[in-house]
Formats: sequence, structure tokens, C-alpha cells
Amino acid sequence: MGAPAIERPREAAAGPQPTAVLDGVEVTQAVQDIGGSIPLVARKMTLVRAYLGSPSAPMSVRGELRVSRAANGPWTTVSSFGTAALDPARSGSSPAQLRGRREDLAFSLDFRLPRRFTKQGTLWFKLGAVRDATTGRKVQIGGTGNARTVTFVPSPLLRLRVINLRYTTGAPPVQFAATKSDLEHMESWLTRAYPVARVRFSTVTVDATATWPFQATQANAQLAALRALDVAGGQDPGTHYYGMVSDGGGFMRGRASAIPGAPDPSAVASGPTGPNNSSPGFSWDTDGSYGDWYGGHELGHTFGRFHPGFCNGNSADDPAYPFPNGQVSGADGAFTGVDVGDPDIPVAPAALPGVVWHDVMTYCDFQWLSPYTYRGIRDRLVAEGMLFPVPYDDDDEDDDDSSRGGRGDASAGAAEPPVNGTPVHVSAVVNLTRRTADFSYVTPLVGPTAAQSAPIDDRFALRVRLADGTTRTLPVVFKPDVCQVADDDDTGLVDTVVAVDPGAVGMDLLLDGEPVAEYSAGGTPSTAANLQVERLTGAAGNGAEGPAPGEPVLTWDDPAAATTDAGPGGVTYGVQASTDQGRTWTTLAVGATDRQLPLDTEQFSDADRVRFRVLTTSGFSQTVSTTEDLPVENL
Ligand SMILES: [Zn+2]
Repeated sequence: MGAPAIERPREAAAGPQPTAVLDGVEVTQAVQDIGGSIPLVARKMTLVRAYLGSPSAPMSVRGELRVSRAANGPWTTVSSFGTAALDPARSGSSPAQLRGRREDLAFSLDFRLPRRFTKQGTLWFKLGAVRDATTGRKVQIGGTGNARTVTFVPSPLLRLRVINLRYTTGAPPVQFAATKSDLEHMESWLTRAYPVARVRFSTVTVDATATWPFQATQANAQLAALRALDVAGGQDPGTHYYGMVSDGGGFMRGRASAIPGAPDPSAVASGPTGPNNSSPGFSWDTDGSYGDWYGGHELGHTFGRFHPGFCNGNSADDPAYPFPNGQVSGADGAFTGVDVGDPDIPVAPAALPGVVWHDVMTYCDFQWLSPYTYRGIRDRLVAEGMLFPVPYDDDDEDDDDSSRGGRGDASAGAAEPPVNGTPVHVSAVVNLTRRTADFSYVTPLVGPTAAQSAPIDDRFALRVRLADGTTRTLPVVFKPDVCQVADDDDTGLVDTVVAVDPGAVGMDLLLDGEPVAEYSAGGTPSTAANLQVERLTGAAGNGAEGPAPGEPVLTWDDPAAATTDAGPGGVTYGVQASTDQGRTWTTLAVGATDRQLPLDTEQFSDADRVRFRVLTTSGFSQTVSTTEDLPVENL
């Protein structure tokens, strides 16, 4: 890790050699007990913590750890980060005696394992030289014994696409979006707290089509449509989607659409983000952004995690939660969290006492993952990894990562559904309390559609109307919202792909056989024309609501624009980009009514060329218009 070699001043001649005893060691990544019962995830940042006691006098020490991937070496020396304060009062090897040292990094000798020593398999390690940090004198350590071992197990990485949902509100209008810091905190927190070595993190800023103030259900409806377009465009169907919504214009309470009982990365969620001081309840978090653990909670729902029922109206849905008060540990403090920290944000490493910190699925303060949730999310990640193998990971130099799946096969795990007609994604916001609904996005799909892994809900159906007056009734997937408070209406999301006959003219959403929403499709839309990227001049840029002057903007014409309106059955546009000659596409807009889209060129900065396409739809049919490959540097 590039730590400087321990300085070795001449041993002072005075006094007997200092001594101490090794009372225990622990290998931890996010949460652990002294017995090491929590599995260690291969390639995840790992701390080895040595607990020294019975010092001959109070002293501050540094030390070395000797590590090897084989029983007989060769051995590599790792230096401790920071020092350990040895205190005769903190001695003994019983769990109760170790607790005070486990719950504070200042009293343990801590080592960060180099990444190559955390690959899948067995690690041998033993404590090496320990020195008085002040005098440099070597400390004789009793009780070190033979080398110990731990085993690292492979775990799939977390695949996450964060949609930064931008909105405009106020007079004069002001635009709000999550900041770069919010996004960095989210990626970092998940990497530190979740049972993963890494987060395959991508993000895109998308204009919300719902009018502010919208609720998370509406945000989720847009995410579901974006995700369906992305998967149809060849993106990895194992990717979870999360919507981040800045609290600059108001606080949008987070919600997940469904707690899937079986692996289902199509469950989406959205939540707020902002500086910690923007909500008094979040003041325990001082790192500058609360969207990270808040997002960790909503994402937890999409990995099948329920509320254990602690603090501020958290519903009690998980009777198996093992610890009192939503704590990370029982009263004995057997489980201790550790935050390995992140110098880039920065967040300092810290031990997180298990009776002070609470599980991320509660609504309590001091949020972290309990061992219960940590194991639960890992189990679900493994199950999702079986269904949706992780594509070849070109960021990883590893050659032994067994979580790796097929190479670049973006449709792996996606089965072709039986299609009789055009596959159309339907995203509808439902209020069960009022028995009302809105078709938010009706999106014809080009390319493969992921198999629907969520169960059909018999209360709902889609009744498709054909031109001749006949109808066909199709089953739908309904995803009830979670993270409601008690007096919220009972809401949810229809998030389903149906095969619609080419001659269909409309559809109704049925709830218990009664129509609660109606949709009329337009005819075949015209094809977008004159696609080009231009930089608007100062006069053409229209301030907070539109692109800034000088920003590259994709523009297009719609030959039928004079005769069509936006809205149900009206024409809307989706925009996608491809940096691999049209093999795969990422979605930049869905449900848009403007014929211009500001481009965030950072999205394509890794590529030489990018092409764009505009999907024009009036409901069940769609036209596609594509640009040439454009040099990214000229955008
Ligand atoms: Zn929740």
C-alpha cells in the first residue's frame, strides 16, 4: 500500500524491553464478529485488526502484518495504518474484554490488505514486528502462535445505473439535479457497506417528464420505461436502476416499486439526495450527502429486503430481524461494523459499534448494514448473478473471478417472451386507495425484451382495444410501492411488457375488472428528420429550462409536428446513444415532447464516435431515425 517503512531508531539502552499480548484478531470488511462468521467477499477492501493487551506500560504502537497466499510463504509485509493505543485496562481475550478495542480503531492495530491478497481462496497471516511508535523500540508480543487463515469467497459485483432525474421549478424557473458529490457518495457508500467488491456504476442525467413536485412512484414509472428501453437496446438486464432526485426544490420521499420475492433486477426505486443539514433527522451523517445510505435503503428493497420495524414509522414487515431496536448487533456488541473509509470523498475509516449503529432497512439514525441484511443482500446478488451472469468485466485484472459470466453478451439471462405483435412496455402509476391510475409511459421496444421475472397480479389486467371493436385482455405485472408512511395512499406501479396487436387503437387498465385508466394510441408517427448536434447561441438558449448557451444539443424536426400534441396518444420521443456502431444503446430521454436534447458529452468521453437515434412514438407503433457516427471530440 506504499506505506513508509517503519523507522528503526537505535534501541534505547534504558529499561527492559516493552511487552504486550495478542488477545485476538479479526478480519473484517463491513461488519463482523470476533469468530469471523460473516463471509469475506473476494476483492473487497479488507481490514485485519489485531487486539493487543496487557502492555508493560501504556504506549502507542505501530506494527507489521505478514501475509501469504500459501501456507509456507512467501510472506509479504504490510504496515499498519495509524497507531494503536495500548492500555493495561483494555486487556483480555474474552468477547467482553475485546469489545472496547473492537469498537474504536484507536485501540486496535489495523492493516489494509493489498487487493491481490483478497482474491478468492485462503489467506495466511500472522502478526510481525510491533514497535513503540514513540521510541521505536521493539515490543515483545506474547500469544502470537501460528499463522491464521481466512477464506475469501467470490461474490457478484453490484450493477447499478443511477438516473439523475432533473426537474425545473419556481419563478423564475430553476433547475435541480443531484450533484457530482451526491453521485460519488452513493457509489462509495455502496462499495463500502454492501457485500460487493465493486459497484459497476453508471449514471445519466435525464429530465423528469412529470411536473414537480412529483412523487417517487412517478419517478419510478420513468425509470421503468428507461430501463426497458436500455435492456431492449442490449444493456445488461442484471442492472438495478435507482433514481436520485435533488431536494433543492423540495423533499421527495423515497420509494421502491416492489420487494421482489425472487431475484428481479427490474424492480426500480427512487429517493432524495442533498446536503446532510437539509433534514434535521439526518444530522448524524456529516459526510456532505445523505443520498448514499438513503439510496442503500431503497436499493435494499429491490434486493428483497423488508422493514424490520424500527424508528419513525418503519413498518414491521420482517419478524426475523435478529437484533433489538434495529441495531447492527445484540446488546453484547458481538457484531461490529467497520467503514473502511474513502480518501476521495473524503470519509475516514471508522469502527461502528453495533449497539449505536442501526440496520439500513430501519428508519433509525446511524445507518449501516447489519450482518442479517449483509448476508441477505449477498444471497440475492448471488441468485441474480445466476440468472443474469455478470458480463466480462474489463475493469478487473483478475483471472479467477468465478462470478464472471458470458463475454459481452448483453442479452444473457433474457429470454424472448412469446410475442404476438409488437412488444410494448407499459408504465402506469396506480393509486389503489382511490382506485385511479395513469398511463405514464407507453413505449414500443426494439430489440430483445427481458423475461418478466416479477409475478403477474390477478387484480389487474390490460384490455387492448382493436380497430374492429373487439378486445384482448392481457395479464400485467404490478409492483406495490414500499417505504410508504401510514397515512400515504396505497400506490404502486404497473411495469409490464405486453405484445400488442399492430391494429390496436387503445387500451384500458382494469382493476378488479373495472377500467381505472384509458389510453388511446395515435396512428403511425412520422419519422424524425434533420437530426443534428448543434451549439445554441446565447439568444437561443433559454436559461434554466433549456440548454445553456454553447452546450451541444441534439435537435430534430418532426414533419407532423404542426398537427400533433403531446399527451396521451400524442407523439413523444425517446433518444438513445450508441458508442459501438449501434450494437448497444443507452437511453438519454423517454417520454420527451421537446425536439431538442442537451447532451452531456461526458457520457461518451471514453469513445471516439457516437451515434444517436430518435424513437418517435404515438403509442403502439414507433419510427426510428439514426445519425451517422459522429466524432465525440467535435460534439
Ligand atoms: Zn423502505
